[in-house]
Amino acid sequence: MSLIFILLLIISLSLVARVMIRIIGQQKCLSDEEIRNYMLGRLHGDDDAYHRVIGHLGNCEKCQQRMHDYKPSDHIEDHLINDKNDA
Ligand SMILES: [Zn+2]
Repeated sequence: MSLIFILLLIISLSLVARVMIRIIGQQKCLSDEEIRNYMLGRLHGDDDAYHRVIGHLGNCEKCQQRMHDYKPSDHIEDHLINDKNDA
């Protein structure tokens, strides 16, 4: 009986820990690379990075503005990739 209780306690604590790690991770501002990957469509719904970007953008006006100001032509390597896709 007490073994089941301990197991349930461990499972719920690990779930709480995962949620807290995700929330703490979302509070940190996005890197230029994360913004670039998101804007270029390199992140997908099954990526943790995608959920972090979406979750953070919902809370942070600074990163919303950075996303808004992002220009792909600032990065030569992305420009080359875009040219290939257009051809
Ligand atoms: Zn931010």
